[in-house]
Amino acid sequence: MTDTIFHKIIRREIPADVVFENDEIIAFRDIAPQAPVHVLFVPKTTLPTLDAAGPEHAELLGRLLLAAAAYARSEGLAQDGYRVVINCNRDGGQTVFQLHLHLLAGAPLGHFGV
Ligand code: 5GP
Repeated sequence: MTDTIFHKIIRREIPADVVFENDEIIAFRDIAPQAPVHVLFVPKTTLPTLDAAGPEHAELLGRLLLAAAAYARSEGLAQDGYRVVINCNRDGGQTVFQLHLHLLAGAPLGHFGV
């Protein structure tokens, strides 16, 4: 059973600045923001990486994206724009092994690469 810092946040064992929650997704501000707005959208069901996702996760992944888009819209971020990122495994820069989507916004973000 994988247990991560995000599972502890889901169980309310450690604090987080939660901005959205429903029965399958929680969203909270990143503790080390990389942009003026940096929110993490996390499924509550255990799913360590995007690589571990299968067809049974298709609807959940869709709802995760839509939750981020709805949040961005509700915060007035959509017109200027935002970025969503999912890091996967070592070369992707993943450090917490519970799948999560980063929503970054609030300033021009520039391009990225190696
Ligand atoms: P990853 O590198 O796995 O894609 O992203 C993990 C993110 O989780 C990082 O941006 C990191 O700052 C954030 N993070 C790590 N520990 C905590 C924590 O305890 N609370 C919150 N809110 N964010 C965390």
